[in-house]
Amino acid sequence: MFRGKASTRAVLIALVVLGASSAWAQGEIPLPKPRPAEAPQLQGERAADRPEADAPQAEAAPPPKPEPKPEPKPPSACRLALTDAIAIAPSLADIAGPGSCGGTDLVKLEAVVLPDGSRVPLTPAATLRCPMASALVDWVRSDLAPLAASLATRLAALDNYDSYDCRGRNRVRGAKLSEHGRANAIDLRGFKLADGRMLSLTDRAAPRAVRESVRQSVCDRFATVLGPGSDGYHEEHVHLDLAERRGGYKMCQWEVWEPLPVIAPLLPAERPAEAPPREVAAGEPQDRDPNRSPQQAQPENAPPQQVEPEQGEQAAKPEPPPASSKAKRKPKKSRGERQSELR
Ligand SMILES: [Zn+2]
Repeated sequence: MFRGKASTRAVLIALVVLGASSAWAQGEIPLPKPRPAEAPQLQGERAADRPEADAPQAEAAPPPKPEPKPEPKPPSACRLALTDAIAIAPSLADIAGPGSCGGTDLVKLEAVVLPDGSRVPLTPAATLRCPMASALVDWVRSDLAPLAASLATRLAALDNYDSYDCRGRNRVRGAKLSEHGRANAIDLRGFKLADGRMLSLTDRAAPRAVRESVRQSVCDRFATVLGPGSDGYHEEHVHLDLAERRGGYKMCQWEVWEPLPVIAPLLPAERPAEAPPREVAAGEPQDRDPNRSPQQAQPENAPPQQVEPEQGEQAAKPEPPPASSKAKRKPKKSRGERQSELR
């Protein structure tokens, strides 16, 4: 009995030892589970020490979040007011630089729409900040169009010499930035009328009353007006801008020159056909004293030669030109005739 128990025990032990050695041989010894990839990094562990399997995830940075697109700016009150009913002025993208140049709330002012619906184009179209464009539109509609109507015609076009332009004042290098560089100014040379006339604002021959009227209206409306007589840079155009100055100070510098004095031809008045023949002409040439000048040869009681009032000093010149050149001269025109020829 005892012996049988002991042998059973020995068999059991032998089986256990055999099983263990068999498991060892088959490599079935339980090992710790691999560290999961999403496990937090242990203190002191460096990325370089981490298993190869983790490397790709460590290198792949999270994709950058797309920047939220800026909300489109709501249109300005000026933009909303500058409708197709008063102007053809599509919006333009903001301009930033170079330097301090540029502007926001820009429009391309192509034409002013008059109250009767007719369009007055700007040639070429002007790039302006909306407030400057709006001021120009108001001026054309309220002042310039009625002025043209007073001339028994209507506006046909505005001659735009310059609007947005990144430059110094008066195109001088290094000078302070011009309001043109802020799209806050326009240079105008004049306007075309529907009857074909081109009315230059700086032409002395243009009707002075018209130039005076334009000067008054722009100086009322714009912060800066520079024209002839201002600084030597504005003899052939008029500069308008909305520069902001302390205290709302305005600058209105435009001399509306008098028309140029009329130069009279260096000719005596035409001798009327019905005038009696001159005594000298009728007399014998050999009767003359050879020492006397032609003027002295005239009879003492002959009427003085007619002299036009504008002739001035030139009237004193002796020796009227021979009759042959007289025929080539154009007849003198009246002021009215010359003005009607303006183009
Ligand atoms: Zn200018």
